[in-house]
Amino acid sequence: MSDKKSPVICWFRSDLRLRDNAALTAACETGRPVIPVFILDDLSPAIWKRGAASRWWLHHSLAALDAALQKSGFHPMLFAKGDARTKLPEIVQKIGASDVYWNRCYEPWAMQRDKEIKTALKGSGVDVQSFAGYLLFEPWEIKNKSGQSYRVYTPFSKSCFEKAETLKPVLQIPDVPLHSGMSVYQDLVLEDLCLMPKINWYADMQNTWQPGEAGAIARLDDFVDQGIGDYKNTRDLPGREGVSRLSPHLHFGEISPRHIWHTVRAQMAKKQTSDSFSTHALGWLRQLIWREFSYHLLYEAPDFPEKPWNKKFISFPWQQDDAALQKWQKGNTGYPIVDAGMRQLWQTGWMHNRVRMIVGSFLVKNLLLHWRDGEDWFWDTLVDADLGNNAAGWQWIAGCGADAAPYFRVFNPVLQSKKFDPAGDYIRQYVPELKDMPDEYIHTPWDAPPMIRQMAKSYPPPIVDLAQSRDRALKAYNEMKTDYV
Ligand code: FAD
Repeated sequence: MSDKKSPVICWFRSDLRLRDNAALTAACETGRPVIPVFILDDLSPAIWKRGAASRWWLHHSLAALDAALQKSGFHPMLFAKGDARTKLPEIVQKIGASDVYWNRCYEPWAMQRDKEIKTALKGSGVDVQSFAGYLLFEPWEIKNKSGQSYRVYTPFSKSCFEKAETLKPVLQIPDVPLHSGMSVYQDLVLEDLCLMPKINWYADMQNTWQPGEAGAIARLDDFVDQGIGDYKNTRDLPGREGVSRLSPHLHFGEISPRHIWHTVRAQMAKKQTSDSFSTHALGWLRQLIWREFSYHLLYEAPDFPEKPWNKKFISFPWQQDDAALQKWQKGNTGYPIVDAGMRQLWQTGWMHNRVRMIVGSFLVKNLLLHWRDGEDWFWDTLVDADLGNNAAGWQWIAGCGADAAPYFRVFNPVLQSKKFDPAGDYIRQYVPELKDMPDEYIHTPWDAPPMIRQMAKSYPPPIVDLAQSRDRALKAYNEMKTDYV
């Protein structure tokens, strides 16, 4: 039974923000002391343990959240490390909490963990409440007219758009309950979570990003002001600032998708007369729905990050070639646009979506390596590494996902490069060996006369022939057994 003074724990996970945070708002509304808690639950299955880039982000995001909480008058964050199934009940007992509130996560292991914790805490008389906030809709909520889950993006998206108009974010920071003057002994400080890498390889990341809610809001405002109005024209150009770069902020829950939706809709209403603005803005909102679709698929198939959605692909003859994989990972394939993308990822922890598709297609089709190799590398190096989106992205590009690109659609990296980075600005930024290459050879340095090639002699020759590797991929696809269809 809750007494008037017993504290309420707000367990932060993928919701590192104060605004539109339903669990925090509800905790404050109890009028009792609110104790924010974060547990580094590293005991989750090792395969999806956070990657190094993600840990770097998490460290800074937690520092920003803790500072923002304290600035608003909240108790400092209580940090813990270990299996949340034992750690959380320990904290509950230690501080005499009567309630635990959290916002829901949708990774299959997290859902299972939360279910177990809820049962155990409720069994010991603690009130547990969970809330929505990571997505626009719960992943089980959007169904077609016959009550079935969608398998195809377009009707799913249409249904989301119809429902989204009723979403209302709560944008003010909740008032801290007046009598929350309690102070709890801290076992650990943020540094004890050891999230920061031991070696400083993150200087470029530090210059590129501002983790935390303030950084997320600044990026949204900037994009709505400057970028969104031309999104459909610039979204595929990696050398331009044409996309929002909100993905890591969304992944860590530093901003809610409802907040984003509401801000964009409000801007559209303001610019009522501009059809062009609305067309671009709607195009961008559609991207947010891809995120919803990924989680919808993950909910339907919890093994989605490991197993192909289309079971026919279980027998696909993927190759194993560690040397080629390493060249791809480090951006030494000899294809400038592929290498620029892989080096952007290594340096900044992020890669432009168009280039993710190009490097992905190159890996699974030209190199014939397993999409899981790409998924694992992205998981370790992306600051926005996200179980649902990463799996959906790789399965889409490999042709084995729900509503995926057909396998026989093989991106030609040279044509893609000429189309989307025509002057080679993006390539020059990330592949300095090619910075003096004349425009006409920037996409195909191997075609340059020897004198010119000499200028970029440290840049490697192509590791595969595009036409031959494409034919090999199509042959493998045609030979795939169809027993599972
Ligand atoms: P914007 O174009 O500004 O879009 C706004 C938001 O919409 C994004 O922040 C993101 O949350 C969502 N979004 C956009 N495109 C997609 C998409 N195709 N699928 C799902 N959501 C989307 N995204 C991740 O967040 N984490 C990942 O781990 C991830 N892995 C990917 C792997 C592959 C192989 C591919 C092809 C795509 C992957 N994506 C992933 C999707 C997409 O590339 C990124 O979300 C996008 O590049 C982020 O940049 P942005 O925020 O500027 O996007």
